[in-house]
Order: sequence, then C-alpha cells, then structure tokens
Amino acid sequence: MEVKAFEKKVWLSSPTMHGDELKYVTEAYETNWMSTVGKNINEVERIVCEKIGCKYAVALSAGTAALHLAMKLAGVKPGDKVFCTDMTFDATVNPVVYEGGVPVFIDCERETWNMDPEALEKAFELYPEVKVVVVANLYGVPAKLDEIRAICDVHGAVLVEDAAESMGATYKGVQTGTFGAYNAISFNGNKIITGSSGGMLLTDHLEAANKTRKWSTQSRENAPWYQHEELGYNYRMSNVIAGVVCGQLPYLEEHIAQKKAIYMRYKEAFKDLPVTMNPYMEDIMEPNFWLSCLLIDEDAMCKQVRSETEALYVKEPGKTCPTEILEKLTAINAEGRPIWKPMHMQPIYRMNPFVTAEGNGRCRSDAYIDNGKTLNVGADIFHRGLCLPSDNKMTVEEQNVIIEVIKGCFA
Ligand SMILES: *Cc1c(COP(=O)(O)O)cnc(C)c1O
Repeated sequence: MEVKAFEKKVWLSSPTMHGDELKYVTEAYETNWMSTVGKNINEVERIVCEKIGCKYAVALSAGTAALHLAMKLAGVKPGDKVFCTDMTFDATVNPVVYEGGVPVFIDCERETWNMDPEALEKAFELYPEVKVVVVANLYGVPAKLDEIRAICDVHGAVLVEDAAESMGATYKGVQTGTFGAYNAISFNGNKIITGSSGGMLLTDHLEAANKTRKWSTQSRENAPWYQHEELGYNYRMSNVIAGVVCGQLPYLEEHIAQKKAIYMRYKEAFKDLPVTMNPYMEDIMEPNFWLSCLLIDEDAMCKQVRSETEALYVKEPGKTCPTEILEKLTAINAEGRPIWKPMHMQPIYRMNPFVTAEGNGRCRSDAYIDNGKTLNVGADIFHRGLCLPSDNKMTVEEQNVIIEVIKGCFA
C-alpha cells in the first residue's frame, strides 16, 4: 500500500495554544513580574483548586519537583522501601531515589493498566514495614484508586498520586489528583494542558502546602537576611509559565473532548482487528483520553525481539507487532511510541524488587516469554502495545490515513 507522507507531522501529543496565553504572558512582561512571584502564579493556584477540588495547590517548576517534595512530605528516608507503579514514566519513581529511598515495583492489572491492588496486597505481605505508596494514572486512565487507598489505609501507608498524565480525569466522579495525601500534576509540553513546563503539588493539608511553598523557594526563614534551617530547593513556578497555564486552563474540557473523539474513532475503526484499546472501567471512571493506545492480540503478533536499544521483527502474513506499526507510522510522518517500558525492566532499576499478583510474588523476569506465557502484565503490555498519534490537532482525514496504514499492517 502506497500512502503519501503527511507534509506536516502528526504528533503523539503536542501543545495546543489558544491565544489567551499570550495575554497573561504579555501582562507579566509589561508589568515586570518576570519572576517566581506574581499574579499569574496566584491565579493558577486558585483555578486549579477550583477545578480539581483540592484545598491547596502549590505551583512548581515541574511535576517531578512536585513528586520530589511529596516524597519529603511523606517522610521517605534513606533506605526506605517505597511501593511504586511499575509501568509508568520514570519521573514517577526517580524522586523516591532523590531522597535515598528504594522503589519496589508493583505490577499492573489489565483493566486500567495501572498498579494492581492484588499485587500491592502481596507487596505488603512481603514488606510490611513500607509506609509510602506512589500510584500513577497511566495515559490519563485512573488507577483503581479506592481499592489502592483502602489497602494503604489498612497498612498505615501514605498514598502519593502521580496525576501528571490524568488531569481532568475522574474516578467515581472525583477528579484525579485528590486521592493521595500529596498529589502531583504536570504542565510539561506534551501534557493535556501545558505551560511549556511546570507542575503542581495538590493537597488538603495546610501544613504540607506551607512546607512545599517554603522548600520550593530555598527554605528561607522569616528573618531580615537569608536565614536557613532546612535544605531548600529552587522549585517555584515562573510567573511567565503560570501565564501560559492561566490561558490554557479554560480549554481543559475542550482538549479532553477532542482526545476522547480520537480514542473513540480508533476504537470503532479497529473493532474488527485482533486488537484492543488501552482499557478503562466505564462504570466507575472517565479518563481524560490523553493518549490512545493499542494492544495487539497475542495470536496476531509476529515475532518481535528487543535488545536494550533496538528492535527487530519477522513479518508474517496476517500478523504484525508494535515495531512494524511504528515504522509504518514514521514512514507517513506520524508519531507513535512504544508503551512506557516498565521500570523493573530498566537497567537503572533492574535490581530493585518487583512484585506481581501471580506466582510467589517475587518476580525477576524481564524477558518476555513468548511460548504462550508471560510472567508479568507490564512486560506483556510493553511487548504487544503501542501509543498511537493522539494529537488534538490531528484532523479526521489524517486519522483515517493513520487507521488505514495500521489496518494494512495486519494484511
Ligand atoms: C510527565 C510526567 C511526569 C513529570 O512531569 P514533569 O512536569 O515533566 O516533571 C511525572 N509522571 C508522569 C507519569 C508523567 O507522565
């Protein structure tokens, strides 16, 4: 099949500006509030509290900074084990290590692709001393947050929610970013709402919000000179960035609607192919549909082998694999991406403990066993899954071309 490449690249997920952003940025410029203090920062914090329904929101330089300060608030100390989502972006877990903690990875389940409550239970049996759990909502789909929070409560553990990818998604009608004691959102360039960068820590605890404000501005004490009693960080959001976010926030619902339409078009178009979309539990959650993903049925997978940095596949009639689909997308100037490679498979975290629901709970297999059996859910989804072009500026015509190219891979 010969398909002409798009003249303009179709992105996985790129920033979508609306014009209002420039107004707020210009005002910051013209009033000389080119600083980490200013009206836009206060406004962003106010609007996010209102939209998400949290008591306090502290504007920071990145979602990663929010997660780092969340680790400090949760009291992670050197040598402490922390239970973390396994299949996520590494920014979810690196902050554990910034504080000297040891991430223990928890396998995902198949209904939302997020932390498996059953595996989490097992992890508490193996490591009853653990006091902090970090859960992420992958690709904008909420995890089984009630179940996970209930398990944390039983074991007296603090829950931290990484809602960087799920802003605007709801679980039983409640916004994500409110289920943990401390929660992080992100305004990175590829997120559903962007400031080009930036993030926030959300909490209902006044003392935690105050600590976060203090730590993020170099931990200055109330004194006539720079007085320091604690370690400080330069993590505050810029008033310029906050201006971009102020302009973006009113468009959150519009972006979600566009992303949902993209997901539904893929789902409908692929209903006769041996594939499924990234799943969610329709009766209890509404994702923000940040990225649309595809999972190829096991018996429609051709042979695919991945080393640490490269992938090879052997084409078979009627079968395909993520590597082939990604190659075909690249050829038409469209951007897809492999599923986030699980943390337990990453060279940096390979020696960390990893807990699965199946088996004895201690699983060290990063190899995908392709004789019909996989040893963990994350490795399986990484092997058979991929992220599709999900940019909200993609036209229906462009998406139709992408759909035809993907269908062609199954020929
Ligand atoms: C983007 C992202 C982050 C980090 O946010 P930054 O603002 O880029 O630091 C954290 N966790 C997940 C799951 C993310 O996708």
